[in-house]
Amino acid sequence: MSFDTLGLSPELLRAVAEQGYAQPTPIQKQAIPVALEGRDLLAGAQTGTGKTAGFTLPILQRLSEAPPARGESRAIRALILTPTRELAAQVHESVAAYGKHLSLRSTVVFGGVGMTPQVDRLRKGVDILVATPGRLLDHARQKTVALDRVEIFVLDEADRMLDMGFIHDVRKIMSLLPRQRQNLLFSATFSDEIRSLSGQVLHNPVEVEVARRNATADTVDQRIYPIEKERKRALLSWLVGDGQWKQVLVFARTKHGADRLGRQLEQDGIRAAVLHGDKSQGARTKALEGFKSGKVAVLVATDIAARGLDIDQLPHVVNYELPNVPEDYVHRIGRTGRAGASGQAVSLVSEDEAKQLNAIERLLKRELPRATAPGFEPGFTLSSRPGNPAGRRPREHHDGVRRSPQAEGARRNPGNTNRGSARAGGHRG
Ligand code: AMP
Repeated sequence: MSFDTLGLSPELLRAVAEQGYAQPTPIQKQAIPVALEGRDLLAGAQTGTGKTAGFTLPILQRLSEAPPARGESRAIRALILTPTRELAAQVHESVAAYGKHLSLRSTVVFGGVGMTPQVDRLRKGVDILVATPGRLLDHARQKTVALDRVEIFVLDEADRMLDMGFIHDVRKIMSLLPRQRQNLLFSATFSDEIRSLSGQVLHNPVEVEVARRNATADTVDQRIYPIEKERKRALLSWLVGDGQWKQVLVFARTKHGADRLGRQLEQDGIRAAVLHGDKSQGARTKALEGFKSGKVAVLVATDIAARGLDIDQLPHVVNYELPNVPEDYVHRIGRTGRAGASGQAVSLVSEDEAKQLNAIERLLKRELPRATAPGFEPGFTLSSRPGNPAGRRPREHHDGVRRSPQAEGARRNPGNTNRGSARAGGHRG
């Protein structure tokens, strides 16, 4: 199936072809025709599924098909809310790329940077605005933005929006929009909270859903390295060096811990950058660019900072500390895996993290294989029986890596991953 059959205009088809997309992804196939009809949409899709084009293309088409009446001033006709600055910037890039052959104008506003340039761009008039909730409300309060002519409202990554505590801001923003409008809500998960929010926002929506692409069991080689807290850094440096890892996303639990780890890795001769909420926008952009371009091998990030980053096909993800919420583990390791090759997710787990590990294994309903690196044998064992704390048993002797049957299969037969079909709707994670 090609893009031609979705009802998109020649200008948009040209832009899509220029992006090099041969065919629409499953979410695009389902969402584009519905959104083009003007229907409300509840879409279950996470980053990496092509969801951005799924809402951007129909918005561009609808706005360009029905330009404002002659003599009417330019007004914001489509509003796209995203939870993070990075995601806002990425969505705006997509709007600009897909809309390059149309005469619609767009801009993006988010916090952490000056208001004035944003005010200037808004004043010149835009048709499509991409925004994070807090900064948009700042503009609304200063009356530097008017939302009373919005025709299409998109809530992107609604679940993250709730996780990050933006629900009040989102409600305030919705109260500034005209009642009569089209609503598109995208969310990776459908919790009760999301259901209730969509019940309030959407009118008679069409529901579409594509399977999560983080099929943890099959496409990601997951390993647990039991290791004393104070030896984690040395083990991480060893893994990166020995494995010649070129692009590793390392999750740390705290900003302070992330900073310290970044410095220590640099001392070990590993190029590292750090990303967390206290970093300035400039520092974040620089860190990301360095990482994407390969100048920096290791990006140390906190969960919040990593949200919304368009870096999700990584060969290696490391949990330097396990997350407190087991679902975060699934989100984190969903970042790994590249087409045709399985990604690797490594967790460095100290004895005091046995509880978190058990919660993760209960969620995944399976034991994660334990591994050791030469010279990094731990002085304790992590029990894999859910609910059982770490036992102080004598050290087991194992040479190198012990793998689960799944990981063993994936290793023997690396071509046989379903990564290709993950985009086309792999497993429900
Ligand atoms: P998203 O889920 O919107 O963040 O998109 C994930 C990535 O998929 C982005 O890098 C897009 O450029 C890319 N993408 C979107 N649509 C397609 C498509 N139809 N074919 C190939 N790549 C795509």
